[in-house]
Amino acid sequence: DDRNEESLNSMIEDIVSLLRPQARMKNIEIVIDNPISDYITCDRSQIKQVLINLVKNAIEAMDTPGEIIVSVVSSETKVVISIMDEGPGIPEDILEKLGEPFFTTKKNGTGLGLLITKQILERHNAVLSIFKNSDRGSTFQLSFPK
Ligand code: ADP
Ligand code: MG
Repeated sequence: DDRNEESLNSMIEDIVSLLRPQARMKNIEIVIDNPISDYITCDRSQIKQVLINLVKNAIEAMDTPGEIIVSVVSSETKVVISIMDEGPGIPEDILEKLGEPFFTTKKNGTGLGLLITKQILERHNAVLSIFKNSDRGSTFQLSFPK
């Protein structure tokens, strides 16, 4: 672990520029909504790995063109990063299994992305929540204490 005060904006921008070409090949645009200049104490490469895992899953979930929205909301006590996709969403029975080692619905999936994500977040006292969007797709939300 190598913890420093890291800018959320800069971590998000890094991973979005990394994954944007992959998204555009599927006509998916990654949009950064409400960029705020907030900092969290974290291991930069680990949190970037988390963001990469979640945005990659969002890209892989979408079979039709659309948007992935990465947004940040900050309050006095926490910072919340949301990754919203327009994929098919997650069926109830699968929702329970997410983060179990090797659980994947993909032909070439490892089923390790969410497990690693949860482990990294736990070490940062952060919480992962998963929501079904009202229209379509799902939202993965990371909540960091300040
Ligand atoms: P992998 O991506 O290798 O399958 P993950 O741990 O990253 O492993 O994800 C596990 C499973 O969770 C995926 O196979 C998929 O079924 C489901 N999943 C994850 N993210 C999403 C998403 N944004 N939309 C729909 N399903 C998802
Ligand atoms: Mg994955």
